[in-house]
Amino acid sequence: MARPRIVVVGAGFGGIHALRRLERRIPPGAADIALIAPHDYMLYSPLLPQVASGLLTPQSVAMSVHRLTRETRLVPGHAVGVDTDDRVVVVCRPTGELIPVRYDRLVLAPGGLTRAFDIPGLTEHAYGAKTLAEAVLLRDHVLAQLELANDTADPIEREERCRFIVVGGGYTGVETAASLMRLCEEAAKRYPELRSVIRWHLVDIAPKVLPELGDRLGRKALDLLRHLGIEVKLKVSVREVTADKVVLTDGRALPCRTLIWTAGVTPSPLVETLGRPTRHGRLEVEADLRVPGVPEVFALGDAAAVPNLSGDTPYCPPTAQYATRQAVTAADNVVASILGRPLREFRHRDLGLVVDLSGRDALARVLDLELTGLPALGATRGYHLMAVPSPNARARILANWGIRALIGGDVSRMGFADDGRPSSFVANEAVGYLDAESAGREGARLLENLRARYGEG
Ligand SMILES: Cc1cc2nc3c(=O)[nH]c(=O)nc-3n(C[C@H](O)[C@H](O)[C@H](O)COP(=O)(O)OP(=O)(O)OC[C@H]3O[C@@H](n4cnc5c(N)ncnc54)[C@H](O)[C@@H]3O)c2cc1C
Repeated sequence: MARPRIVVVGAGFGGIHALRRLERRIPPGAADIALIAPHDYMLYSPLLPQVASGLLTPQSVAMSVHRLTRETRLVPGHAVGVDTDDRVVVVCRPTGELIPVRYDRLVLAPGGLTRAFDIPGLTEHAYGAKTLAEAVLLRDHVLAQLELANDTADPIEREERCRFIVVGGGYTGVETAASLMRLCEEAAKRYPELRSVIRWHLVDIAPKVLPELGDRLGRKALDLLRHLGIEVKLKVSVREVTADKVVLTDGRALPCRTLIWTAGVTPSPLVETLGRPTRHGRLEVEADLRVPGVPEVFALGDAAAVPNLSGDTPYCPPTAQYATRQAVTAADNVVASILGRPLREFRHRDLGLVVDLSGRDALARVLDLELTGLPALGATRGYHLMAVPSPNARARILANWGIRALIGGDVSRMGFADDGRPSSFVANEAVGYLDAESAGREGARLLENLRARYGEG
């Protein structure tokens, strides 16, 4: 292959780490490396709850792709289909135009979307907490609720605006509830009358929160959340959502204008466009991360079902920790496959999990070591600082934490949620994908156009 075209889809943990490894392994100019991504930043999502609470600025968790990579060409847009016969990715540019991007090797790392369930009103009224825009909107929305509640004489409206319900007892739900609860506490200093009205609830259909932490730390998490004043309701889910009410499956109807939905992630619909076997929506891959039957396509991260050769579960968990390591294996195997060398299998032993409950509360499981209190907080913050791939972002994060510790926070809102429109996660994360057949047709048509205009090559 003269100058192989390597295309990576997704600028998240998997995509960016794969690109950085490829750039390290391939001599400059020896390959055409392209990244298809809707934004030119990598989002460090584990710190999103701290953006929602205002502890961190949005810029500190959005790391420029141009700083993180050296030679990669950015193709702005969403990959909406893959034609594996012609080796073309169909990209929808931000302008709505479809363009073909040809590849010799393709690395798919489009992550996942917030998982919606068939619950009446959910897609219209629930807020998401997975994207940067959602985190910023959520903060504005929560602060706006307190301002409006303080400004009304209607006790029912006040109750609705001061009740916040988070669904999902995983790390996203727990950290989001704890961080926003503290934001409310801070804001309520300005509205002393609201203090006794503000209510935070965390509900989950599972019998425990944070099952990944193990029984002892899971129970500790429950105690900490309750101590913070969050009402945790387990074995319960949501039956219906309206603009001013949430009905739970235990029959309770709670006056509420803020439902935050963090109950799971569904893999990007992009992987379905290949028409290959999936497992719970994740694209099945071999242990070397190749998609069976299409050896030039690799997939990883939240969008891929990767066999877990070193763990207790049959497939790797959808976490940043795994996506980052899979990226290195995928990049090495892309290079090996181009050079005709043997590929290696992905193996990684889970290192644990850190959970920041904001303030000074944190929990951490580091290998078999269980930490609480200040050691957990140190491990949590230290882990994030190490895992952030950019020194600039690291400096910004440290500066933000330092400023908060020295002079406290600020609870003014930016005005992003002023139109009163719910920032429904479905609307925020919606993209029109092609099915396998249309992707093939569209890929071939776009390629034909390209050949007609520019000839072969
Ligand atoms: C609030 C929160 C807290 C978390 N905390 C932790 C934690 O503490 N520890 C941990 O290990 N994991 C944590 N996770 C999970 C972790 O963020 C994910 O597992 C990880 O991001 C998966 O990496 P990925 O590369 O597969 O996907 P992502 O990092 O999500 O990246 C996917 C990228 O693909 C882009 N994309 C999507 N569709 C397309 C398309 N069609 N075309 C082009 N680009 C596309 C997206 O814009 C995104 O940039 C957390 C997640 C959240 C939301």
